[in-house]
Amino acid sequence: MSNKTVSIDVQKDLFGANKGAAISNADEFKKHGIHAFDVMGSVGSGKTLFIEALCEEMSGRYKILMVAGDLATRIDADRVASHGIDTVQINTGNACHLDARMVRFALKDVDLSKYELVFIENVGNLICPAGYSLGVEKRIVLLGITEGPYMVRKHPLTIKRADIIVINKIDLAEVLDFDVEALVSDVREVDSDLPVFLVSSKTGQGIDEVVHGLGL
Ligand code: MG
Ligand code: ZN
Repeated sequence: MSNKTVSIDVQKDLFGANKGAAISNADEFKKHGIHAFDVMGSVGSGKTLFIEALCEEMSGRYKILMVAGDLATRIDADRVASHGIDTVQINTGNACHLDARMVRFALKDVDLSKYELVFIENVGNLICPAGYSLGVEKRIVLLGITEGPYMVRKHPLTIKRADIIVINKIDLAEVLDFDVEALVSDVREVDSDLPVFLVSSKTGQGIDEVVHGLGL
């Protein structure tokens, strides 16, 4: 197993430079036949458990690398590593999102020929990660129903830039008296074609459907 931690100090973000790095990441993934996914969502939306559930479902069929972005610590990477998955932790210091250059830097010493799937867990934040493409195949936006009913209406741009929406922690809907259908129609309001999956990463409900939705 290999579990790295890379610290990055980023003071300025240049969208132009990001675009170039995103293209080169995409080329690199393509060259190795890798399907890469950017998992975005607020702190506490359940990104790590969601990735753990996907890894449980798919590690028999695919060689997986997980890249975790956090300001500090490798708590999330260690959780995923406990499933026997290789990980790279990116510690961004003060940056509240990952950008394509950070991903490129973190992967520069990684032998990508060993992997078929890369899950990138972005920094917990529903706002600026959407502004920085990482060169992935699909962007997955996670909405945990514990975050309240207005995540979609308050973050329309993030929803617009997503390829897949996962409404997570669906097992809590009843106890929270949460109107899931209303949240789904908020998504439909922003983009009527966006695939929406109702998931409990905890019980595994809906994980199968997400796997199909990712084309895997
Ligand atoms: Mg996490
Ligand atoms: Zn940010």
